[in-house]
Amino acid sequence: MNESIRILKEAVQNSDNIVFFGGAGVSTESGIPDFRSKDGLYNMKYTYPPETILSHTFFMQNTGEYYRFHREKLLHPDAMPNKAHLALAELERRGKLKAIVTQNIDGLHQKAGSVNVLELHGTCSRYYCLSCGKVYDREILLSSDGIPLCTCGGIVRPDVVLFEESLDQSVIERSVNAIQQADILIVGGTSLNVYPAAGLIRYYNGDKLILINKSETAFDGQADIIIRESIGETLDAVL
Ligand code: ZN
Repeated sequence: MNESIRILKEAVQNSDNIVFFGGAGVSTESGIPDFRSKDGLYNMKYTYPPETILSHTFFMQNTGEYYRFHREKLLHPDAMPNKAHLALAELERRGKLKAIVTQNIDGLHQKAGSVNVLELHGTCSRYYCLSCGKVYDREILLSSDGIPLCTCGGIVRPDVVLFEESLDQSVIERSVNAIQQADILIVGGTSLNVYPAAGLIRYYNGDKLILINKSETAFDGQADIIIRESIGETLDAVL
């Protein structure tokens, strides 16, 4: 076992207040493309760039085209949790991990059994009616074509944060609290270049900031341990 992973394992054994902060790299091992990687979502050919399609204005004006993209590129109904998701769920069951803060919208942490998951950008697992507020799960998309409609006739939208929309303030506050109180903060699968990730990491006060990412991150200079291995293999080895 690599020395950094051995040190991480020892730290995890001695802690019951770990917080994990994750990005797209956590789910690439489940076959979900990283938004910003070379062959990821942002470089795929579509009529409009993904940043446009995934905006509030576009959703309201071109709902059908939005859903065509959502169904094809965001939904991933067959994706399964990988070793990273499963290891984090196990750490929570053992009373060691207090929260997962994620930028992902794929719902794989919950699918793996994690309970306290703070989804900064919302989730593709939940939908609601723009007219009456009725809440739906992903089944409404799997059992319909085109634009999903509520029983009241209203348009149903995903509970994800689109561009031009603000993040849920209560999710931010709970994330800040968890990170501030954490004794180990493990950050994985994100380069930390994108808002709000970098801002949230700054709330960490401890001396065990662990970065697991295959490439450099904006916080490498502040990390106590940097691991450039697969996140799934690393977290699995830590258990
Ligand atoms: Zn409705």
